[in-house]
Amino acid sequence: MTFNYANAVPTSTTNATEAILKAAADPEVISFAGGLPAPELFPVAAVKRATDRVFAQDGEQVLQYAGTLGYPKLQEQIAHLMRGRKVKATAENIGIATGSQQAIDLVARMLINPGDVVLVEDPTYLAALDVFRAAGAQVVGVAMDDDGMRMDDLQQKLTAHPAAKFIYTIPNFQNPTGRTMTAARRQQLVKLADQFGVPIVEDDPYGAIRYAGTTVPPIKHYDRTGSVVSISSFSKMLAPGLRIGWITADPAFLQKYTFLKQNADLHTDNLTQYIIAQFLTDEDLPAHVHRITAVYEQRAKLMLAEIDRHFPADVYHSQPEGGMFIWVQVPGELDSDELAQRCLEKNVAVVPGSAFYAGKAQPGTFRLNFSNMNDDQIKTGIQRIGKVLKELGVQ
Ligand code: PMP
Repeated sequence: MTFNYANAVPTSTTNATEAILKAAADPEVISFAGGLPAPELFPVAAVKRATDRVFAQDGEQVLQYAGTLGYPKLQEQIAHLMRGRKVKATAENIGIATGSQQAIDLVARMLINPGDVVLVEDPTYLAALDVFRAAGAQVVGVAMDDDGMRMDDLQQKLTAHPAAKFIYTIPNFQNPTGRTMTAARRQQLVKLADQFGVPIVEDDPYGAIRYAGTTVPPIKHYDRTGSVVSISSFSKMLAPGLRIGWITADPAFLQKYTFLKQNADLHTDNLTQYIIAQFLTDEDLPAHVHRITAVYEQRAKLMLAEIDRHFPADVYHSQPEGGMFIWVQVPGELDSDELAQRCLEKNVAVVPGSAFYAGKAQPGTFRLNFSNMNDDQIKTGIQRIGKVLKELGVQ
């Protein structure tokens, strides 16, 4: 049977990133390609304790269908967490999602009609680009620098596309660059977006994983008109396999969100919501996040030091203050897919920068993940990449 697939389904059958992630699964390969948390830091025993408690106390209830926007106790706990991040929120502002990925997908479906423009940082999170494209959006990239999305370029792009449906941004330790948008830019962003009447979709799965510098309030903190929809997740703070994310927005927006959430899955896994609610009641989440952050800090510092030691002097790298990624840019016109392929021949996997661009990809770019490999792997892997760069004639 030959299926006549809908426009939402990509026509290609493979891509460079997929090939690299597949190769990275080889135990011989040192992989800086994935975006995986360190599994040895998952609080397995504490999650088991929470699960046992949930079954003992609410076994029948958690196995039943439940409300679309989420388990009310967890909504309340997340509202409390958001207030701790300086966002005004009550349980009524919180909608639980099956990972923040689902929240991105549903918000995109809520706002995008085929042909609509969406503005994103260039480069940005690959799976958000895929979602926006699947919804039929014309995705337009806004230039970045080390302080995040550039406001002069945003103003230009908003002027060129005044009917843009929303601005998508990852303000903290951005995927893929590891960069953080300054507080001043966040305020400018809200002001500009309000001037043009364009909403902001803030995607913040990494903000809690900060190991240097000072915390910057979420963009939602600066929102006075209800135009910012903020998305976050337990994936990086706790465990991605639990698949619990959330959206913080006005109740009127959440009411519309409910319709599409029902179409997708009726509600997020009830058992997992109860487990996280119990974990938050019994365990110390901030202490757990502190433990993860300390390990990531050490790995990031090691990777940065090894980069400085082994990469040619003119190679740029970002200086993340948290999260899981470092962005590298090699001077010249080296094709990033070829660069990644040459690294793979030396048994090191990186993600080529070409995967992350809405517009024309910047050559010679790639993303390094530092959360998932141990010290020896970081040292050996960075040394090998340094060798590849020198072989390719990079100065
Ligand atoms: N947003 C960004 C920027 C991400 O990097 C990721 C996952 N790596 C997600 C959203 C999705 O995370 P999850 O669905 O696990 O919450």
